[in-house]
Amino acid sequence: MNKTPLEDATSNGAESTGLNFIEQVVVADIQSGKYDGRVQTRFPPEPNGYLHIGHAKAICIDFGIAQKYGGVCNLRFDDTNPIKEDVEYVDAIREDIHWLGFEWGKECYASDYFPQLYAFAERLIMTGHAYVDEQSAEEIAQQKGTPTTPGINSPYRDRPAEESLDLFHRMNAGEFPEGAMTLRAKIDMASDDMHFRDPIIYRIIKRPHHRTGTEWQVYPMYDFAHGQSDYFEGVTHSICTLEFVPHRPLYNYLVELLMPEGTTYRPYQFEFNRLNLTYTMMSKRKLLSLVQQGLVTGWDDPRMPTLCGLRRRGYTPQSIRDFVSMIGYTRYEGTIDLSLLEHAVRNDLNKHAARVSAVLDPVKLILTNLPEGHDESLEMVNNPEDLSEGTHIQHLTRELWIDRSDFMEEAPKKYYRLTPGGLDVRLRGGYIIKCTGCEKDAEGNVTAVLAEVYLDSKTGMEGSNRKVKATIHWVSTAYALDAEVRLYDRLFLEEDPSGIPAEELKDHLNPDSLIVQHAYVEECLQDAQVGDHLQFQRVGYFTVDPDSRPGALVFNRTVSLKDRR
Ligand code: ATP
Ligand code: MG
Repeated sequence: MNKTPLEDATSNGAESTGLNFIEQVVVADIQSGKYDGRVQTRFPPEPNGYLHIGHAKAICIDFGIAQKYGGVCNLRFDDTNPIKEDVEYVDAIREDIHWLGFEWGKECYASDYFPQLYAFAERLIMTGHAYVDEQSAEEIAQQKGTPTTPGINSPYRDRPAEESLDLFHRMNAGEFPEGAMTLRAKIDMASDDMHFRDPIIYRIIKRPHHRTGTEWQVYPMYDFAHGQSDYFEGVTHSICTLEFVPHRPLYNYLVELLMPEGTTYRPYQFEFNRLNLTYTMMSKRKLLSLVQQGLVTGWDDPRMPTLCGLRRRGYTPQSIRDFVSMIGYTRYEGTIDLSLLEHAVRNDLNKHAARVSAVLDPVKLILTNLPEGHDESLEMVNNPEDLSEGTHIQHLTRELWIDRSDFMEEAPKKYYRLTPGGLDVRLRGGYIIKCTGCEKDAEGNVTAVLAEVYLDSKTGMEGSNRKVKATIHWVSTAYALDAEVRLYDRLFLEEDPSGIPAEELKDHLNPDSLIVQHAYVEECLQDAQVGDHLQFQRVGYFTVDPDSRPGALVFNRTVSLKDRR
């Protein structure tokens, strides 16, 4: 079900109490003393890729609930598949969570529980709840049946427990090749719930694990490891996305088998709608493919929806948290308009970004009534939204760079900027000027715009605040710095790129997703630091790219000043 961003933002279930539906459960559990008032959550990324904006939504609720209700949120790396996982990802995930502004209680790994999970599997075998199946995964899949027809029992289903136990031990000792056999929970091949039809709970993998090396040759499946890990850690509210709803009965079944008799503590799973964004691909597998195919420069390419990409693009942690809180948590799937994320970052940057000038399509402006060598220091307000952010100096000289679009030789009536004999225009933070003409080359291209300054009109002078219809930005030709600006736009042309197969990604990229241009920027940007947020007046919000060097400045456009629709 698709909702407009506004409908979605206002229907997050928070109307009556101000709490979303998961918080309502948490509050009720605290009040009823269900866990003696304890609140414990976890964020369980699989370290097989970098975190993306969708993960930010999960992080904000997992950590946010713990923070708000005096609990803890553990960071749990769900590292049960050594084939796809890497320490590179573990480090990046830590960094991104910190950057978003959250702190975890314990750092845990599903692999920490391999011994306990293995012992639990042995117990299931010995109590008749699991068996070793020697069929291939394909054969097992063929016997699964359909939601309306029951599955077929495996010929190995009723083998003696001792035999399964022996085989399970030998699977782990490395006696059998990958795929030769699996351990399956023995539940019900006729169950209405397909997940209960003897799910595979352990498989043989011979690849070394990034933490446990070659200690294990059998690895637990997600459904077997997740609820048990929650249990071992003492999680109270295990929050995940809606695609896990069908797994919940199995989660409950396995947790209940594991709980010692007579005990009451156990975790419960709660699901919310995952984040889908227009023009954005969220699958880690496909994001990895973009990187591997060289279609982007890396996981932190500013066009990627990864947190490191958004950071490099100039998104702030606050803007991402604001966005997540705007869209809220519901129990129905939907797609959020990318413009809402852009709105959130604009809103935050408007409060904090320093205003400076940059000219991307320059033409020279000569102020003909100023003497050669004129050099005046003007004090510019960094942020009119927050005067405590101070001022900086910009030099005004006889020759300036202005944007080519701010001059027209033959202008239509409603053109309020520079045109010979037209209206007066203010140079931002400086004088009011009047355009007197222009210079052209042999082909008729304008090479310089000519104007005269009203010497008594400088910003701040008494009586100088005469109203003009247009204010334009400028930089001094003598002081301006050269810079590279990278203008980013959405990576995909399709509104919903999620279905594009990995091999076809290259055919669906927006050819204008990156436009590199030269710019003249204000001299104060000499010392701009990576991560500084700037508003290039009338152009957009920008940040300093890590590629930037003194003398070879590089700026990334975070977002344009206005929504283009
Ligand atoms: P992908 O499908 O992109 O590989 P995943 O769900 O396998 O993602 P995990 O590392 O397992 O990625 O995710 C960790 C947590 O983040 C899970 O609890 C998952 O539900 C949540 N999560 C992942 N993607 C989203 C999303 N788009 N919106 C909200 N939460 C998400
Ligand atoms: Mg996952």
